Amino acid sequence: MNKNHILKIKKLLSSSNKIVVVSHRNPDGDAYGSSLALYHYLKKINQDVSVVSPNDCPDFLKWLPSQDEIVIFEESASKGTELLNNADIIFTLDFNALNRVGSAMQAVLEKASADFIMIDHHQQPDDYAKYMYSDPSKASTCEMIYHFIKMLDELDKVDLATASCLYTGIVTDTGSFKYPSTTSDTHNIVAHLMEIGIDHTKIHNRLYDTNSYSRLQLLGTALKNLKTVAASNTAYITISQRELNSYNFKKGDTEGFVNYGLSLKGIVFAVIFIEDQKQGIIKMSFRSRGKFSVNDFARTYFHGGGHDNAAGGRSEDSLKKTVTRFLEILPNHTKELQASYEE
Ligand code: 5GP
Ligand code: MN
Repeated sequence: MNKNHILKIKKLLSSSNKIVVVSHRNPDGDAYGSSLALYHYLKKINQDVSVVSPNDCPDFLKWLPSQDEIVIFEESASKGTELLNNADIIFTLDFNALNRVGSAMQAVLEKASADFIMIDHHQQPDDYAKYMYSDPSKASTCEMIYHFIKMLDELDKVDLATASCLYTGIVTDTGSFKYPSTTSDTHNIVAHLMEIGIDHTKIHNRLYDTNSYSRLQLLGTALKNLKTVAASNTAYITISQRELNSYNFKKGDTEGFVNYGLSLKGIVFAVIFIEDQKQGIIKMSFRSRGKFSVNDFARTYFHGGGHDNAAGGRSEDSLKKTVTRFLEILPNHTKELQASYEE
């Protein structure tokens, strides 16, 4: 974000505004971490601020400070609409295309008269924001929120609640600091958050040690369904709606399953196909190691996108048809995938 824009935003925030912070559909640790961190900061500087999320978050995020104050658009559409219609400023965090909030909320955002400020680390941002802070080299939007507050010269306002939210997004989007996107800057930010007093062990426990018995059973099913395509260094998992139902599926239960495919020796591309009968789609997650860009793959074939090594997409075909189509596409990329393995 250039100096001129920061100065303009600083000026905006020096008077009182109605501000809405928006996160993407199916919010993850970085979406809610960044939204709530910004919320706490804006409250501290006496802004009238709300967070509106298209739908609810998984249970492992329910402890985040002020999470219970988030307006869930799916449940309170009129309240969400009113907040968005009356906003002077709308921050969109951790996404860069308005369709990422779902069609109902997208329609409201498209009509809103507020100034939009985008803070996001995904590739190929759409052009809807007056002020855009887009940096795909950053591992998480939470790191960008930290830098945003730093650019405003306000790091002294980062309190324990804000720091805990920032740490959550950083730890989840870096895979606990192991993804290639993790940098010395990531660790420098975390060093500061630790000085502020975050309890990193407790946060980690709340995020990762919350398995239910049925989730572990679902994981067992997913692992039994795992298949490999050795020639393309690829592994994929399918989970049908029937399987989800028989293990009492709750939002967030399949989080991280796709990574098991990538943990196999020789695999550089892992996919999970999850049937969602309510939405009438197959939700896909793509993960890769090395140069093979799952962002490109998801964009080209499955209406999706994301990052080079982590992306998502969807298909409106049946589970079986989607997998068949995927297996037909895969040979086009065998050479790239093999090269990615040899890197
Ligand atoms: P996940 O597979 O965990 O849902 O998502 C992986 C990454 O891809 C996340 O950064 C997420 O924001 C992004 N992503 C997931 N689904 C979509 C999608 O349908 N479209 C786009 N553009 N990005 C997505
Ligand atoms: Mn993110």
